[in-house]
Amino acid sequence: MVNTACERALTDIEREIGTQWLRRGDDALEPYRDPYSPGLDDKFRARAAVLPGSVEEVSAIVRIAAHHGVPLWTISRGKNLGYGGPAPRIEGAVIVDLGRLNRVIEVDQDLGYAIIEPGVTFFDLYERLQELGGKLWASVPALGWGSVVGNALERGFGYTPYGDHSENICGLEVVLGDGQIVRTGLGAHSGSKTWPIAKAAYGPSLDGLFLQSNNGIVTKMGIWLMPRPEAFAACRITFPQEDQLGQIIDILRPLRLSGAIQSSAVLANAVRIGAATSSRDRWFGGTGPMPEQVIHKIISDLDIGWWNLRFGLYGPDKLIDFRIDEIRSAFAGVQGARFDIRRYHPGDDLLPGDSVMAGVPGLTALQAVKWLGPNGGHLSFSPISPPIGRDAVAQYQMAKAAAEEHGFDYYGGFTAGARHLNHIFLILFSKDDAAQCANARKLFRRLVADAAALGYGEYRTHVAFMDDVRAIYDFNQHALTGLSQKIKAALDPAGVLSPGKQGIWPPQYSEVSSAH
Ligand code: ADP
Repeated sequence: MVNTACERALTDIEREIGTQWLRRGDDALEPYRDPYSPGLDDKFRARAAVLPGSVEEVSAIVRIAAHHGVPLWTISRGKNLGYGGPAPRIEGAVIVDLGRLNRVIEVDQDLGYAIIEPGVTFFDLYERLQELGGKLWASVPALGWGSVVGNALERGFGYTPYGDHSENICGLEVVLGDGQIVRTGLGAHSGSKTWPIAKAAYGPSLDGLFLQSNNGIVTKMGIWLMPRPEAFAACRITFPQEDQLGQIIDILRPLRLSGAIQSSAVLANAVRIGAATSSRDRWFGGTGPMPEQVIHKIISDLDIGWWNLRFGLYGPDKLIDFRIDEIRSAFAGVQGARFDIRRYHPGDDLLPGDSVMAGVPGLTALQAVKWLGPNGGHLSFSPISPPIGRDAVAQYQMAKAAAEEHGFDYYGGFTAGARHLNHIFLILFSKDDAAQCANARKLFRRLVADAAALGYGEYRTHVAFMDDVRAIYDFNQHALTGLSQKIKAALDPAGVLSPGKQGIWPPQYSEVSSAH
């Protein structure tokens, strides 16, 4: 990209949206850097950021960028933490920050949906629903400051029965690479009263083209919301032994598949629970991975399990009672399993640890990043696993062995959907320690390769590793990558929308390879 082209584009954009909505210079661009970068911050820096105030301005920005051939990088709130945050895939891109488009356009309390703009955070949506009487719940992820749109588009998840966020998208408004504004599904009908209620519309379903993609900029989204249940039970089960993992997963699978457990069930190891309330130096002052006896001390001092399962149950009390009976008897044969169940009804105060299961956003999960000190960083390694004991054990052993070899603790666990597990291993490191950052990157690449060799791939990744992960999806000479590139070229002929996102490069970037 020629600098002068970029300068001309920025001048044109500035004229279009106003000087105050153009950000330049190190201080103004600080919020657009990855706050948890594994030592790669300088390789993923933006040239400028622009903050459109309307869909029309988004469209104008894209047209100007396409005219000058200037790369853009779209963010909604930029809280994609562990995956690069707001930082662009390529250095020098212009961030399109959609934070000003923050209207909750509509909430329908009878039909259970909202239409929102990309700048709406989980806190914003929660507050709006509360103002309306709290009859609807939004599903929220661990941290509530991100956008509902960005999280759903990235296939993020929360912990209510509506926790598979991308599954609950219904209808998008999108700006394509030539600036055209399109609505998908029933929303394509001007004046439609139905676009956020039925995905089964007329013709091909195109919403998926805009998930984890660089095919367009989403400017409105329909999202389904859950009717507030009569009651909610926050359930926890602790298991004392590391080698109970396979047994737990095999018991959990039919409970999730049958719907006895209605929401994501999160199985966390003791380090993950410990890191929620303490830092590592409380337990261990040495270097290298924590010895096993230290983990046992965390378990006994905090009165937790080696494995800790958490999920919510929802509905009338009687139905919750049935579900609890079924779940108790399913886990009855697991030695040392301990149950802790709290029941809530509308108006009850929630304990902080239970709130995300009831769709209440928070920020307490941020503490974990400080495990190794105040300047902590993290990388999320996120392969999908079958919900089968031997697969979960294989993934756990693989990740733990590689982590220990590289001097890291295994911090993580499995979030159980109905037919799959999201295995999340957070590589926690200190940003002040350059050698540790380098080691974290080495470990990440090793994990991608080891997982691929066992037949597992990641569902999401940090900007620094998007090409590495793309490379494992290689069936029939990388046919899917080729198809994605064809679609990209058709929808974004100038190749300006988030080039390289998820390893999809437009032809204009054929020379670009992995940036490190
Ligand atoms: P959040 O603040 O919700 O965590 P981000 O704004 O960081 O999410 O977005 C995560 C990723 O999703 C971004 O890096 C970008 O690739 C993509 N994304 C976010 N918002 C949009 C959007 N409105 N249209 C298209 N892609 C988006």
